[in-house]
Amino acid sequence: MTTLYSQIPSTDRLLRDEAFTSLLATFGHQRVAQALRQLQDEAREQIRTAQTLPDWCENWAAETQRRLECSETSALRPVFNLSGTVLHTNLGRAIQPQAAIDAVAQAMGSPVTLEYDLDGAGRGHRDRALADLLCQLTGAEDACIVNNNAAAVLLMLAATAAGREVVVSRGELVEIGGAFRIPDVMRQAGCVLHEVGTTNRTHAKDYQQAINDNTALLMKVHTSNYHVEGFTKAVSEAELVTLAQASGLPVIVDLGSGSLVDLSLYGLPQEPMPQALIAAGVSLVSFSGDKLLGGPQAGIIVGKKALIAQLQQHPLKRALRADKMTLAALEATLRLYLHPEKLRQNLPTLRYLTRPEPEIREQAQRLCAALTSRYHEFAIRVEACQSQIGSGSLPVDRLPGAALTFTPHDGSGRRLEALAMQWRSLPQPVIGRIYDGRLWLDCRCLENESRLLEMLLK
Ligand SMILES: *Cc1c(COP(=O)(O)O)cnc(C)c1O
Repeated sequence: MTTLYSQIPSTDRLLRDEAFTSLLATFGHQRVAQALRQLQDEAREQIRTAQTLPDWCENWAAETQRRLECSETSALRPVFNLSGTVLHTNLGRAIQPQAAIDAVAQAMGSPVTLEYDLDGAGRGHRDRALADLLCQLTGAEDACIVNNNAAAVLLMLAATAAGREVVVSRGELVEIGGAFRIPDVMRQAGCVLHEVGTTNRTHAKDYQQAINDNTALLMKVHTSNYHVEGFTKAVSEAELVTLAQASGLPVIVDLGSGSLVDLSLYGLPQEPMPQALIAAGVSLVSFSGDKLLGGPQAGIIVGKKALIAQLQQHPLKRALRADKMTLAALEATLRLYLHPEKLRQNLPTLRYLTRPEPEIREQAQRLCAALTSRYHEFAIRVEACQSQIGSGSLPVDRLPGAALTFTPHDGSGRRLEALAMQWRSLPQPVIGRIYDGRLWLDCRCLENESRLLEMLLK
C-alpha cells in the first residue's frame, strides 16, 4: 500500500511536467493546482478503500484537462427532450417561440421602455403594456405579472385576504411539485384556511355554511396534476360566483396551466380557459406562463381592476415582479395569440402537442434505418407510444405518437443503463426513458433530426 501511495506524484513535479504547460496557459496556475489536489485526494481515497490506483493515474495531465473542461461547460446545457413529456419541468418547460427569443435578445442589449412612457401619458407600472394585451385576450379588466404562478397565488392571497379566512374545498388542497402546497402557501400569505367538503365531494351549501364575518374570499384551485373519479362532486366557478356575490365576496381561482385557446379545436383534450372564468364573473384568475401558454416562466393574474390595483400596490409585488426579459418574452408570446390561424405554426408547445402521429412515426422510421448499423448490441424498433403533456396539465390524457426503442439483445438492464448514461454524456445530451426493459426515444418534440443523428452516431 505504501508503494501505491508513493506512486502519487507531487503537485510541484506534475506542474513542472511539460504536459501541463498548455493547461497552465489555458486555465491558470490556481485552478490547475486545485484540480490536481482534488485528484490526489481521490487517488489516496481509492488506495485506502480498494488498494488500487485509479486508471487515470497513467495520465494525470489528460484527466486534469478532462475535469477542467467539464467544469467549463454551462450548467444549462441544451438537450434533446425525447422523454415523452412535452412540458418537462426539469428540462425547462415550454420551448420559446422565435418571436420571444428575438424580443428577449433585444431587451437584453438595449435600454427599453420598461417603466418609461414616450408619450408622457404616465404609464404607471411595468405590467401596463402586457396588461392591455391580456385584457384584450381574456376580457379581464386588468392584469398583473409576477415570476411564476406560485408567486401569483401567494400575492393574490396576501394582498386580498391576509388575517382573514379563505374558503377552499378539501378536494382542491393540492400539492404541486417542489413544496408548493395550498395550505402552506395560505399560511405564508397570512391567511386562515377554511376547508370545506370532503375529499371526493363538495357542495354549494358547504361553502355557504362556511361564510362568516371574517371570510375574505372563496377560492378554487384547479386539480391539475391528479384526477378524482367515481362518486364525486365539485362546485363550478359560475355557481361559486353566484353564491359569493350574495355575500359580496370575491372568488379567486388558481388555474395552474390554463390555455388561452380552446384546445379541442386542435383535437386535444380541453383545458379550462381563463377567459371563460372571467366571463363567469371570477374576480381573479392566475396561471403559468410556461405551461400550456407556451411562453416564459411567469405568473399571470387577470381580473377585476380594484383587486389588481391592490396586488400592484402590495409590497410583495415589488419582490415578486417579473424582469424585462420575462416581460419581453411574454409579450411576444401573447401577441401570437392575436393570430390564432398561425398559432400552431408559431408556438412550439402547440406544434409539439398537435404533431400528427403518422409524421412522428415516419421520423422514427428514418432514424431507425440510420441507426441500426451503429448499435449492434440492441434491437431497434419503431413502437407506438403515448406522450404526456406534463407540468400538471391534463394529467390523465395521453397523446398517441411514436418512439424508437432500444432493447439489449441479451436483456441486460445494465447495458440499458450504460446506453442511457452514454447519451447523457454527449455534447448535446439525449434524454430518453427506460421502461419495460427498453430505452424509449419519443420523437414528438424532435425538430433537429440531423443534429440528433450526429449525436447518436458519435
Ligand atoms: C403549476 C401549478 C402551480 C405552480 O405554478 P408555477 O408557474 O410552476 O409556479 C400552482 N398551482 C397549480 C394548480 C398548478 O398547476
